[in-house]
Amino acid sequence: MAATKKSTGSGSDQLTFDDPTTRHPDITPPKQDQPMPGSDKELEPRTDRGQESYRGTGRLEGRKALVTGGDSGIGAAVAIAFAREGADVAINYLPAEEEDAAWVAGLVEAEGRTCVRIPLDITDKEASEEVIAKAVEGLGGLDALVINAGKQVAKESIEEITDEQFDLTMKTNVYAMFWMCRAAVAHLPAGSTIVLSSSVQAYSPSETLLDYAMTKAAMNNFGKGLAKQLAPKGIRVNIVAPGPIWTPLQVVEGQPKDKLPKFGKGQPLGRAGQPVELAPAYVFLTSAESSYVVGETLNVNGGADSP
Ligand code: NAD
Ligand code: MG
Repeated sequence: MAATKKSTGSGSDQLTFDDPTTRHPDITPPKQDQPMPGSDKELEPRTDRGQESYRGTGRLEGRKALVTGGDSGIGAAVAIAFAREGADVAINYLPAEEEDAAWVAGLVEAEGRTCVRIPLDITDKEASEEVIAKAVEGLGGLDALVINAGKQVAKESIEEITDEQFDLTMKTNVYAMFWMCRAAVAHLPAGSTIVLSSSVQAYSPSETLLDYAMTKAAMNNFGKGLAKQLAPKGIRVNIVAPGPIWTPLQVVEGQPKDKLPKFGKGQPLGRAGQPVELAPAYVFLTSAESSYVVGETLNVNGGADSP
């Protein structure tokens, strides 16, 4: 049904009421490949990260936020939205992603906000700790942390998952999350927030994403436990669990190539999500509006089942 309706495109801001089935185009991405780690600039079709549509409402005035994986996809949309809501933003990404990162930094700075760029590979402990130290130094403190960097490599068979892949997926998604949260806690004053990017894969694992899906379950669980530990200190931890969102991660190695044209079409809304549609969830969980929301997983998945 959605495919026969005409898309209203991505021009409306996040506060406009319209039909969610047609708010963004029902995309049919061609089969495509990109070398790791992938770039938004090369993605076909291009994504909506809110660059033209996200409208700031003053929800994060004066916050000092670090967004890992903030160069592209969901992290880019979050960084742009945070800046428009009044936050200074540090973004961490891989050195090879400087071009995407520069684009995000330009949009953050266009809001009159600071953008601290931290190109570092977080798969070792020292680098993860350095990301936190550089964010604190560059922003003059830290009160909002978004752990969003992620590695997702699809493999048809468990026998094709090498030790190296398994290790890198764990290091990026689980170890780095742990190292960064541990290093950040000492810097976070009462009123701070942590938001983790988990996934619908945490409870509904694809047969081709065994290693990735288990890390997302770990993140969801870790977030709920850490939330209880830090709540008495006035630090709130929450989780966002996206469904199929059109981002570079999907074309690098995140999906079997023949699945790309159908990406997201099986959701009740009938289409893949755009990164900009995630931003309000992160803004809400980082803002004071969510002051009594702790250890929650906010599903943004176009209607898939969730616990
Ligand atoms: P993306 O490729 O745009 O973002 C992932 C980012 O992770 C990269 O830009 C990169 O900067 C960062 N990263 C990966 N390895 C790194 C390393 N070793 N060191 C430093 N940074 C590293 O893709 P995205 O889809 O926006 O992913 C963002 C998060 O959302 C990920 O955690 C992903 O698992 C999660 N997620 C995505 C979807 C989806 O459908 N796109 C669904 C559920 C969850
Ligand atoms: Mg990227």
